[in-house]
Amino acid sequence: MNVLPPNALQIPLSAPDIGEAEIEAVVSVLRSGRLSLGPGLEEFEHCIANYIGMPHAVAVSSGTAGLHLCLLALGIGAGDEVLVPSFTFIAAANAIRFVGATPVFLDIDPVTLNIDPEKIAAAITPQSRAILAVHTFGIPAEMEPILALARKHNLLIVEDACEALGAEYAGKKVGSFGDAGVFAFYPNKQITTGEGGMIVTHDAKLAARLRALRNQGRSGGDWFDHQELGYNYRLSELACALGIAQMQRIDAILAQRERVARAYDEALRDEARLLLPPLTLPARHISWFVYVARLSAEFSQHDRDALLSALAAQGIACGRYFSPIHQQPCYAAWRHRHALPVTESHAARTLALPFFTQIAPAQIAAVAQTLQSALAAWPATPSGEPHAALCS
Ligand SMILES: *Cc1c(COP(=O)(O)O)cnc(C)c1O
Repeated sequence: MNVLPPNALQIPLSAPDIGEAEIEAVVSVLRSGRLSLGPGLEEFEHCIANYIGMPHAVAVSSGTAGLHLCLLALGIGAGDEVLVPSFTFIAAANAIRFVGATPVFLDIDPVTLNIDPEKIAAAITPQSRAILAVHTFGIPAEMEPILALARKHNLLIVEDACEALGAEYAGKKVGSFGDAGVFAFYPNKQITTGEGGMIVTHDAKLAARLRALRNQGRSGGDWFDHQELGYNYRLSELACALGIAQMQRIDAILAQRERVARAYDEALRDEARLLLPPLTLPARHISWFVYVARLSAEFSQHDRDALLSALAAQGIACGRYFSPIHQQPCYAAWRHRHALPVTESHAARTLALPFFTQIAPAQIAAVAQTLQSALAAWPATPSGEPHAALCS
């Protein structure tokens, strides 16, 4: 079914934007002989700290490692509950379980696809310790009510800004609102280091603890002096060099991603069967991570999945961002614990379109046209059976 005819167009879901400067930066690290714990680490940390407007940044080996260390260093553990959306990447909830705490899933706002602040108060119990506020798809979460509730109930805030480098809320970069914020640099993110992550915080003591935890619990100069149980969550010099080179053109990268989002909006805005992401929101600046359209409510999850296969068969890679965490097999114990009607209804109809800086206008047009003809040939039947022509 997914066998492509020769010369079929092939448009990936995402692609890193790597130029000659990135290649030269990595090669020069290789030539230097210093591949870990060198000058690039500190420089990359300064780059991100300055960009976000934070005093401390701690580079780690992935966004997941960053979330894990934040929760650990903030003292969250067994018996604690952490509020988190289910409509996000699984790493957010996994990090809560890594430290022995319990994720409590919150439903989302259907427009921003972020935590619905109105759902927070009802989920708070005497065990609640923190809110893991995710800036999903680069749209800032509604931080003002989230911060107010956290203050009122004495909760910590960790921002999962792994999809939101450069996004702003009320004129301030996301990642700078909570007790700590985490960014990620997997190849589909706004910038990449291959694998990598960065924690930012206002708290110097927390930053020092994070540096020790990422480096086998070392806090002094001695390589064989381990003050506490730590991890190897270090980021290599090759990765840091890549990150520095990417950060040198962060504004251009984000501006180009926004142009791609606007081009999709223009091409698809008259399609009544699609709900498109907002281009702007009051008091917020979006940093585009993915472009996720949703099929309208008459489509079933089965329709969406069949449509994805039909597009894949034509060389267009689309994604299911996200399959709710509480419906994953490794979260079977959570499946019926929380009622998350908005999450379940919207997640079943998402369609992430190919999205990367170097996508050509002709490719955007091809995606839009292929999607629209597929939709036109798709009378969603009451049984949810997909149109035969697209299933062959
Ligand atoms: C990418 C991502 C992460 C994890 O980042 P990795 O670097 O892949 O470990 C965490 N949370 C969210 C919301 C993400 O999108």
